[in-house]
Amino acid sequence: MLKVLKFGGSSMASAAQYAKVKAIVEADETRRVVVVSAAGKRNKEDHKVTDLLYLCHAHMRYGVSCDSVFGMISQRYLEIRDELGLHTDLEAELAKIRTDMEEGRLSEAALASRGEYLSARLMADYLGFAFVDATQWLRFRIDGTVDRDWSYAALRRLAEGQRIVIPGFYGAMADGSIRTFTRGGSDITGALAAAALDADVYENWTDVSGILMADPRIVENPESIPRLTYTELRELSYLGAQVLHEETIFPVAEKNIPLNIRNTNDPAHPGTVILERFDEEESSADERRFITGIAGKKDYAVVSLSKRGLSSEVGAIRKVFEIFEANGLAAEYTPNGIDTFSLVVSGAKLEKVVHIIAAELQEKLAPDDIQVTKDLAIVAAVGRRMVNRPEIPGRIFSALGREGINIRMISQGPREETIILGVDNADFAKAVRVLYNSFVK
Ligand code: ASP
Repeated sequence: MLKVLKFGGSSMASAAQYAKVKAIVEADETRRVVVVSAAGKRNKEDHKVTDLLYLCHAHMRYGVSCDSVFGMISQRYLEIRDELGLHTDLEAELAKIRTDMEEGRLSEAALASRGEYLSARLMADYLGFAFVDATQWLRFRIDGTVDRDWSYAALRRLAEGQRIVIPGFYGAMADGSIRTFTRGGSDITGALAAAALDADVYENWTDVSGILMADPRIVENPESIPRLTYTELRELSYLGAQVLHEETIFPVAEKNIPLNIRNTNDPAHPGTVILERFDEEESSADERRFITGIAGKKDYAVVSLSKRGLSSEVGAIRKVFEIFEANGLAAEYTPNGIDTFSLVVSGAKLEKVVHIIAAELQEKLAPDDIQVTKDLAIVAAVGRRMVNRPEIPGRIFSALGREGINIRMISQGPREETIILGVDNADFAKAVRVLYNSFVK
């Protein structure tokens, strides 16, 4: 049995957080591989070390001294070390980073990666695990993708028979130069490590108890989702539920390794388990709920085109898509009816090109009418248990209807796992709350 754990920035933010990490790792001897982020924020006003490193690089580029910013970074790590009573020679590490930086030897990526590097050095010492640098195993190809075969084989060799700590977020090109993932990328490092080592579970430790059923800024104290499929996760995160880096799931999903999102500040909470599919559903009350989660976003716009005979006009829909594509607009949803075709697009993006699009549609399709509806919000009810449940859509619509919420658009694909509703921006928060209260509470 092997567990790979990844701890995010807030779990690495202070000595007190390090102590929680240690207790979590030591509570289970199968927790043998630990991936860490750079130190994150200790409170709302605080700064993430990674942000400070990027800031340092910008200072250097414009020839401005970054003494004070670098001082803040150094202080963060020295403080953690001293409070934990460790003896890691951070002074030497920091001095080297400083001279490399001043002498122009550190690319932006190389400098940004030092947050994770320092976190991992400290955590390895604190846990008494071996430090394995990401440059030793995580290999990027020239096109920026990860060379999985090479990387997996290298990590397997390095991890053999030991407990290790690995810095997240970066790796190296074949020539040894450092490259990072996009922001939040330590999640991907953790997933790659779990896949490389065929872990039994990938535990992603953060500061929330899993993926919440609804946005906590809209619903007070929403419950977390106990079990979630990758498809449901994609649906929810596409519409704004944010917990993991988008690319995290691919390496673990491929190997069907369960991804467990946990809370460092509440380790007793089981969090959310994400898996390709669940062979048998649990029978606890919350597992029997039809809706797994609710997500949504405001500020969409709908462009609707009507023309008698549109549905039977060969190639018409292609022309519509081509016009939108040429203007850089992706159609998020395309609800349609006989002789009307609508595209739901980002309101802000449409705003810039709306006149061009209207003119082009007029010219190429000669529609009877073009309508633009602004200020539309999309609300999605996502749930694998909605499949083959004829009563669900009716219950959703009547719950919203009872509260006087007008549904302006409905879209459900044949997979039946997601019901998408369009409502006025003004009704958005209320619609989310009504769905949550009718189906979850
Ligand atoms: N430290 C990096 C960031 O802030 C990567 C991560 O934490 O996942 O984006």
